[in-house]
This record gives sequence, structure tokens and C-alpha cells, in this order.
Amino acid sequence: MSSWLDGSALDRQTELRADEEWVLAAWSDSGAVLLRVGDASVETTPTGALALRPVESTFDPELHYLLGSIDGRPWFATRAEEELTALRSVMDELSAASLQAAFTAVGLAAWHANTGFCPRCGAETRAVHGGQSRRCTSCGNELYPRTDPAVIVAMLDPAERLLLGRQPSWAPGRYSVFAGFAEIGESLEQAVHREMAEEVGLELTGLTYLGSQPWPFPRSLMVGFLAHAADPQLVPAAGEIEDARWFTRSGLLAALASGEVTLPPSTSIARRMIDDWLDGRLPG
Ligand SMILES: [Zn+2]
Repeated sequence: MSSWLDGSALDRQTELRADEEWVLAAWSDSGAVLLRVGDASVETTPTGALALRPVESTFDPELHYLLGSIDGRPWFATRAEEELTALRSVMDELSAASLQAAFTAVGLAAWHANTGFCPRCGAETRAVHGGQSRRCTSCGNELYPRTDPAVIVAMLDPAERLLLGRQPSWAPGRYSVFAGFAEIGESLEQAVHREMAEEVGLELTGLTYLGSQPWPFPRSLMVGFLAHAADPQLVPAAGEIEDARWFTRSGLLAALASGEVTLPPSTSIARRMIDDWLDGRLPG
């Protein structure tokens, strides 16, 4: 896992891809590779790495989406008809660059599959700019893949205990930090205050931005905050929060060792926040 503030391993070539000739040249590049993806799945090798196929067919802008380049090699994505390997099951083993490409590919392919018609006039749309956007064939409306911002919160009480909770639909024993989508007209900070009040009845006394992570199920951007509460009294939202608890570091380690508690995958921002707190880097 890269540090919170590292740059991207995937060069998205935002300027160049507007040129169709340039996209065609990238497709013809001898190092170009094609990654097949499903709704939340990717094609993998028997060892769990991404299966990167050589580019052999004719370029079709409706089928082939440029992700960008990694170490000078153009990466394209295409949508597979069949079910592939669940991305969640392999993402902890992928390199930072492969993970970024896989996240982009899954989110982008799902967006193309669901954006065939113009929301303004209802006419068909066509992929343009190497799959970075779609354009309406009737009114010319340009559509771009949006990402939905969600806040995720490492919540501490005055004793530096961390708040973890679980929803009724989660696997037994799974606990995580709290998260929720930002609403229209709301700042990320306001979303943190609202979510923590709604879900566990906490009033925050401090808020610090930590970092963010894309989460392509289907197309979220998780924005991490460290927050403090002066009064640790919890009022979990009925029906939504099955359990919410303050953990000491030793208490969580014991619960993990006994199997009473399991945590999200290590690639997730949630796990990263929990691990940083366990290691004393939060509140740092
Ligand atoms: Zn239109």
C-alpha cells in the first residue's frame, strides 16, 4: 500500500486521449494490454495476478476503454460477458498500479454499460475520448463518469478508544469504522457530523482530513477523516446499526485473536485507518 499522499501509478493521459488518432496509436502499441472485467470482477491468472491479454482485435470505441499507461504501456479495459474473479477476493494481493487499473476498469466499464442513453433527450450515446466520456448522438450532451463521495470516519473518544460498528447485513463478526455518502449541497465535513449524529448519536469536537481512496462498487470515493467526541455515550440507529462499540487497542487485538471480530480487507481505507490507529500512527 502506498502512503496517503503518493501520486498515481496510472497515467490517465487526460489531454492526449481526446485525439482519436493518438488513442488508435496507443491501441497499436506493441506493449498495449487488455484487461477483461465484469461488474465487480476482473480476469486473473491462476496465481491471482491480473490477466493482461495482448491487444489483437480491431479497436472499437464502444468496447475498448483506455485506462491510461503504466510504466509506458497502454492499458485498455473491456467488458466480459461471463463472471470473472471477484475483485474483492484478489485486491489485497495486487500491486498499487494493478489495483488502481483494476478499480478504474471495473468502475468505468460499469458506467459505460449503464450510460447508453442520454438523460437529457433519451437518444443513444457514443463513447468518445478513448472511453473517458460519452456523447449524445442527438443533442450532443457530453456525459462523464461521476464518482460518488462518501465519508469514512476514524472516531476516537478522549481515552483514544476507536469506535467500530456493524450493520445487520454484514458477515457475522465483521466490524468497521463508520461511513456514509455525502448528500447534494453538503460539504464532506458536514456529512461526517451528520452521519455520526444519525448513526450513533455522537457530537464531534474535532475533525481532520486523512486521505481518500476510490472504491469501485460501483463508483465511490471514500474520503477519510479522523474525528473526536468529548462524550462517548452511544445511541445506535435502530435497524441500521446492529452494534457499536468503543475498542481499546488491546481490546481489539484480543477480539481479533479470538475470532470474535473480523476487519475489512487490508486494501480498504477502513482497514488502513484501523491499522494506523492500532500501530499508534493515529491520532499521531
Ligand atoms: Zn441528448
